[in-house]
Amino acid sequence: MSDSQSKKVHIVEVGPRDGLQNEPEQISTEHKLKFIQKLVDAGHSQIEVTSFVHPKFVPQLADAGEVIENLPQLEGVFSALVPNERGLDRAVESGIKRIAVFTAASETFCKKNIGMSRADSLSVFERICKRAIDGGISVRGYVSTCFVCPYEGEISESVVAETTRALLQMGVDEVSISDTIGAACPNDVARVLSGVLASSPVDAIALHFHDTYGTALANVCEGLRLGVATFDASSGGLGGCPFAPGATGNLATEDLLYLLDRMGAETGVDLQQQAEASRYIAGVLSRKLPSRQLQRLDAACGN
Ligand code: MG
Repeated sequence: MSDSQSKKVHIVEVGPRDGLQNEPEQISTEHKLKFIQKLVDAGHSQIEVTSFVHPKFVPQLADAGEVIENLPQLEGVFSALVPNERGLDRAVESGIKRIAVFTAASETFCKKNIGMSRADSLSVFERICKRAIDGGISVRGYVSTCFVCPYEGEISESVVAETTRALLQMGVDEVSISDTIGAACPNDVARVLSGVLASSPVDAIALHFHDTYGTALANVCEGLRLGVATFDASSGGLGGCPFAPGATGNLATEDLLYLLDRMGAETGVDLQQQAEASRYIAGVLSRKLPSRQLQRLDAACGN
């Protein structure tokens, strides 16, 4: 991040959805709502709160409608994942004003994760985007496995660029380029972003890293260097992906915040209050979360 660039960096907090979706023990709606409120209190302005995937596949988020109906009235803060048209019906019914759709850069991962080819997923999302946008709902897009795929190996930057462009043409306003298995290194980020940014505006690009190999923050630095100003993160490092063998937690929000604070970036999110939100959900789950900053802060205050 050079001085000539804006120092404002946006964090998209995905803990309540991406973080909790694989938790085997059912978490009550009340606990989820308290967790989300603590994230709001910490200063988050973009929170992905749940998913309208079929409850059979993700029973943890079966209460999506109830969660959304009970959120505080805050414009533009909350979003929910929508996998298909039935999911969009439920999202519309809930009153949410921002949704996210997801496809993959790897054909094999796409088929295994969402049961469709890339081309089919894009035609489904084209219909979803049209309906959503016509109804006053904005749309974010995720592209999974943009760097390395557990089945196909290294992913071509031209496929990521083409998929990103296709989503933006449908009216998606931000595409999150995701490292689903956390295997990317800064050179992968530079290679893929060079492809993406040749044909899409940097303001429409977010990065979503997992810390499986300990490279997530190095990848964030490379993203910042290339002008990206939006990063996804999950409280305490919650979450993984059930369809991606070997994938561990998302980049922890506290770890990202420490880095951005030290680099002089403005996020609007308070590290101590973020840690409070993570401690709360860790207490609900009865276990420690992997975030290094959270562990450091807890050791410092004797928790
Ligand atoms: Mg993730």
